[in-house]
Amino acid sequence: MLNPADIHSLLKEFSLSPSRALGQNFLTDANTARRIARLAAAGPGTRIFEIGPGLGSLTLALAETGAEVRALEFDRHLIPALESVIAGLDSVSVSHGDALTFNPDEFLGPDKSTSQRWHCVSNLPYNVATPVVVRLLADAPQISNFVVMVQREVGERWTAPLGTRASGSISVRIAYEARARIVAAIPRTVFFPPPRVDSVIVQLDRRDKPLVDVPDPEFMFSLVGAGFGQRRKTLRRSLRSILGDQAVSVLTAAGIDTNQRAENLDLDHWAQLARSAKP
Ligand code: SAM
Repeated sequence: MLNPADIHSLLKEFSLSPSRALGQNFLTDANTARRIARLAAAGPGTRIFEIGPGLGSLTLALAETGAEVRALEFDRHLIPALESVIAGLDSVSVSHGDALTFNPDEFLGPDKSTSQRWHCVSNLPYNVATPVVVRLLADAPQISNFVVMVQREVGERWTAPLGTRASGSISVRIAYEARARIVAAIPRTVFFPPPRVDSVIVQLDRRDKPLVDVPDPEFMFSLVGAGFGQRRKTLRRSLRSILGDQAVSVLTAAGIDTNQRAENLDLDHWAQLARSAKP
């Protein structure tokens, strides 16, 4: 396992300096790494997809459980250091790539049957955490659950109950595909360099099927985006950007008070709205 001295000597040996643009805050605490591995239920027979292995702090804790680990790292300069850390571990493989654009069928295999699914584990680069998770929920059904570290405010938004002020368009998108909850708070002191923000671990369990049945989910999410894009406005006004003059009649047909705001709606409401706008 990697401690602060190991991280410093790896950075020195390979002439690296952490990139803020790539969200490189390396975990320096074995207890936290092992805790994440436990939360992910990593063990013999489990398959872990790790995004952004960095210098390998989490990778080692995952491999230690006997799990298979397949890791995708964007920063090619880190890869020689990472390979030196995981040398000799046959259950770990590392590739260079971008979590925003890689091909899940090629990387994780095309088999989407339940018995072959992957756990995604990551100390996510904070600047791309939300688009990466949105993309994987939509495009990588091979992943059955996620245990990921994110900025506290991001985790709170992801997991906010719908119909509350804390919710946003991302809360709706995540609730559609997964059950989400914050399972731990992580102090800044376990990273090098320490981030400027607090972190939490979020667990997302993919639902067997989406929470509501709509013919065109992306259309529903465009309504959600318009509603939360002007969240202080009533829906009759915020939805005009998509529904134009039909906004009031569509809301009324869906049985929704036209003076409500996006944060007042739950997923059934959004689905009803989408069906009423595009029968
Ligand atoms: N897992 C390591 C740890 O816990 O110490 C590093 C975590 S660090 C917060 C985020 C890592 O994600 C960095 O190694 C960074 O280079 C990598 N990264 C950044 N953007 C990425 C992307 N689009 N796809 C894959 N990895 C990315």
